[in-house]
Amino acid sequence: MRKKAMSLPSVELKQGMVTSLEIESGVVKGINYKGDERTILAPLTIVCDGSFSGLRGLINLPKVTKHGHCVGLLLKNCQAMDPGYVYALLDQRVGIYPIGMGEYRVLIGFPGKVPSTSNGDMAHFLKTSIAPEIPPELYGAFMAAVEEGQVKVAPMHSMPAVPCSSTPGAILLGDALNVRHPASGNRRRHERGYE
Ligand SMILES: Cc1cc2nc3c(=O)[nH]c(=O)nc-3n(C[C@H](O)[C@H](O)[C@H](O)COP(=O)(O)OP(=O)(O)OC[C@H]3O[C@@H](n4cnc5c(N)ncnc54)[C@H](O)[C@@H]3O)c2cc1C
Repeated sequence: MRKKAMSLPSVELKQGMVTSLEIESGVVKGINYKGDERTILAPLTIVCDGSFSGLRGLINLPKVTKHGHCVGLLLKNCQAMDPGYVYALLDQRVGIYPIGMGEYRVLIGFPGKVPSTSNGDMAHFLKTSIAPEIPPELYGAFMAAVEEGQVKVAPMHSMPAVPCSSTPGAILLGDALNVRHPASGNRRRHERGYE
């Protein structure tokens, strides 16, 4: 989207780290950022700084609460028996769903502490506690993903998405506004006819 926007003649690109929103009398008037200029004013500010948004808190929205972590792996070059379905294993703590041709995402929910990815605890946990539950046709790809060490850890948040009409002048987009559980995204893909 950034590349596409940059290609348009009507778009002037300035890049920098936004430090705060410029707010006057409860109305968002623009942003302050670290770069060549310090403030940019605009009739509308679009806030889209991702799920770790530091700017969301400046707008009058319900607070984000953390509910543990989610560990993700990408399985490549494999095919499940029922490619159109989401697998839920270990009392729904583990979800496996297709994300492309021969590619599956494994997501593991952790309500508490996550094993360390740097000292080998995570790999040991995945091989001993999760691997035995993986469907046989995905087992090899799962072990390969663990060996490659491509394990991503992300916090799980509850972030209610409500219109931010109490702070005019800004809208939130993307993960800064709301993050859905991946299983619901997968369902929407199937409703659109993805196979
Ligand atoms: C493990 C995992 C698997 C996923 N799989 C899928 C999938 O299969 N399909 C799917 O549709 N989605 C998937 N998602 C979700 C998807 O990645 C996000 O929904 C999407 O990236 C959100 O886009 P965004 O632009 O809102 O935020 P981001 O992609 O997080 O982008 C935010 C941007 O804002 C920048 N930024 C942050 N703070 C500032 C600041 N102060 N000033 C300036 N810039 C700033 C960041 O550098 C970043 O470039 C997955 C997510 C995870 C964690």
